Amino acid sequence: MDFQSHIRVIPDFPQPGVSFKDITPLLKDGRAYRAAIDSLVSLARPLAPDIVVGPEARGFVIGAPVAYAMGLGFVPVRKAGKLPAETVSVVYDLEYGSDRLDIHKDALRPGQRVLVADDLLATGGTIRSTIRLVEQLGAAVVGCVFLIELTELEGRAKLAGYDVLSLVQY
Ligand code: AMP
Repeated sequence: MDFQSHIRVIPDFPQPGVSFKDITPLLKDGRAYRAAIDSLVSLARPLAPDIVVGPEARGFVIGAPVAYAMGLGFVPVRKAGKLPAETVSVVYDLEYGSDRLDIHKDALRPGQRVLVADDLLATGGTIRSTIRLVEQLGAAVVGCVFLIELTELEGRAKLAGYDVLSLVQY
């Protein structure tokens, strides 16, 4: 399947200089969406995860169906203040200012093998923070899967030491 033909590239969104990779054409096409999830599952299977973690919001659209297809549970990582029970947090720097991601404290057990899933790897900041949350709970990241990887931004370097797998590279 040619996944790239289902990804719409929008120049200068949301700001000048950013080439936005819009996955909504892929998501609305049932065959393409299923094929993408199936391909990610094939990449993930050898990692033998026992749970999937994905960051808000597009990490849910990728991570949850991967978890379902593998018969595994799914754990959401959310922006500050959205999760109702006790959480642990990580604060990370953005170009201007900082942001916070949360995970429920009881979401993972020590030693659990975690697959991290998201739509796109850019600078790797989001996934680096997601990995920190997983490890704060004592679980182990066995790999990270992405629909799209922007290789120029070298997110992979920020994730050195972890298995990083992606379907489409720009
Ligand atoms: P980063 O933390 O830099 O790896 O960026 C992570 C998140 O930002 C990804 O999960 C995407 O949802 C979003 N993102 C960053 N850059 C782009 C882009 N060029 N096109 C679409 N989404 C992007």
